Amino acid sequence: MKEKGNRTGRALRLSARRYIQLISAVLYNCNIKGFAEGTIFKGATKGLCAPGLNCYSCPGAVAACPLGSLQSALLSSKYKVPYYILGTLLLFGLFLGRAICGFLCPFGLLQELLDRIPTKKIKKNRVTRLLSKLKYIVLAVFVVIIPLVKLVPGFCKFICPAGTLEGGIPLALGNKDIRALLGALFSWKVFVLAAVLLACLFCYRAFCRFLCPLGALYSFFNPISFFGLRVDKSKCTNCGVCVRSCKMDVTRVCGGECIQCGECIGKCPEKAISFGYKGPGVKSDACAAQKNQN
Ligand code: SF4
Ligand code: SF4
Repeated sequence: MKEKGNRTGRALRLSARRYIQLISAVLYNCNIKGFAEGTIFKGATKGLCAPGLNCYSCPGAVAACPLGSLQSALLSSKYKVPYYILGTLLLFGLFLGRAICGFLCPFGLLQELLDRIPTKKIKKNRVTRLLSKLKYIVLAVFVVIIPLVKLVPGFCKFICPAGTLEGGIPLALGNKDIRALLGALFSWKVFVLAAVLLACLFCYRAFCRFLCPLGALYSFFNPISFFGLRVDKSKCTNCGVCVRSCKMDVTRVCGGECIQCGECIGKCPEKAISFGYKGPGVKSDACAAQKNQN
């Protein structure tokens, strides 16, 4: 009976997360007219950033992408500090950390849906843990150095698969003038997108884990964010079930690789993990956990 209750509770939590992911994806992209006309929304809200990765050029997007905005600010800053976008990222990071990846990222949702397709899955291992460091290099090189030195938005221009899927392809389909301008760079971006989507069929949230610079950025805030997962140290027995059951390359709950999805909550035999406020005033063990690995 108790076990059945646990399973029901977990199912409800999971579906609540899925609802939030779906609702945020729709809210980010509610300019339906743009899809029909192949145009980009230019209203007042486009000056604001959404917390998750969602291309500015998506015909449906009603807000800007924080990564795109950061790159644009850096390349046009002439070495002045872009306070507005840095402040926005700081605010998002401090409030939610990587819970944004787990709950508020449309591209994260897509990757999870691809993972539901039954294929042989590659479980996390030493190689995936090593690859998970790659996103920090992508952040430094393509989001910071290339925009500052070459004055081009390196990640948006050469890598972003969300941009190709949400912006490049719909705009090209809906607008023949844009189609006429496409060249080798667009072909490269379609190749990157195809490779990422294919990887996600076999490897859980492959883009998120190995390449996403926004996840890398928010990971710095994970241990100090005001809201997210808390581990009650007085209950935790260091059994390692949470880390072993997690599909991300985590070494501890709420560490840099944790997207705070909460899927481990129902796995913990001691009920030591919960969601909630863990900011100032809460004892610092709120984000602690064991370091057991596979
Ligand atoms: S928090 Fe993790 S390590 Fe601690 S008791 Fe729960 S499952 Fe085990
Ligand atoms: S540790 Fe738990 S909350 Fe973090 S990513 Fe893994 S399952 Fe999700």
